[in-house]
Amino acid sequence: MRIVLVGPPGAGKGTQATRLAEKLRIPHISTGDLFRANISRQTELGKLAKSYMDAGNLVPDEVTIAMAKDRMAQPDAEGGFLLDGFPRNVSQAEALDELLKTEGIKLDAVLDLEAPEDEVVKRIAGRRVCRKDSAHVFHVTYSPPKQDGVCDHCGGELYQRDDDSEETVRTRLEVYHTQTEPIIDYYRAQGLVVTISAMGPVDEVTGRALEALK
Ligand code: ADP
Ligand code: ADP
Ligand code: ADP
Repeated sequence: MRIVLVGPPGAGKGTQATRLAEKLRIPHISTGDLFRANISRQTELGKLAKSYMDAGNLVPDEVTIAMAKDRMAQPDAEGGFLLDGFPRNVSQAEALDELLKTEGIKLDAVLDLEAPEDEVVKRIAGRRVCRKDSAHVFHVTYSPPKQDGVCDHCGGELYQRDDDSEETVRTRLEVYHTQTEPIIDYYRAQGLVVTISAMGPVDEVTGRALEALK
């Protein structure tokens, strides 16, 4: 399957993507995680991306699209993928369509995770991620690690993302409404959008997602 996951920051895209990817046996491709991996390796791409991310803005399309294409061209993505955080505006969606057309493949669904703003703000405020792999995500009260500050999966140190500060979150929510939400209409016109509520326990949301993707 080829799936795009959309939803506001903090809706639980990464959390659900990890679980769905496992169940559906497709790689989870998160542009946010790819940028953070570049930042921790201190690559040129990481240095460029960090300034945009810390301000809560989108990283420029040219580098983002190139990075996403590169990742999608890897062998494990041949049979399908779950895109998390890409595309994030209409021009990225158009670039993805172009790529898919060239490859003669199509998206199966765009899964839209819906959550009210007060909930996503609470989720982001308590989010802690692993320094070794930001796909390892916890929450101080909703899904605490077994040992304070230590990743259950790999023992890495847990930290609060620089862009999860209250001020940056406001910008990111605005960017979501103005730049990312329009892709939902773009994909609705293609008949691809399924919307589910991201509220409730993680397992329930996963169940809802799998049902919606049937
Ligand atoms: P996104 O990728 O959409 O920004 P994350 O998957 O990183 O969202 O989740 C944001 C925060 O909310 C994390 O701390 C995560 O542990 C927590 N979280 C995710 N899903 C739920 C849920 N269903 N209920 C409560 N907290 C959740
Ligand atoms: P860990 O053992 O550190 O928890 P896993 O290898 O189990 O990590 O992978 C964690 C998540 O990342 C899984 O949901 C999996 O689908 C996804 N994943 C696996 N390989 C890749 C890859 N090459 N690129 C991106 N995501 C991947
Ligand atoms: P969240 O799920 O909490 O919104 P992500 O990890 O998906 O966070 O993204 C973090 C930041 O990485 C974004 O605010 C943005 O600066 C950058 N980013 C991630 N994906 C993209 C993209 N497709 N286009 C541009 N910037 C991106």
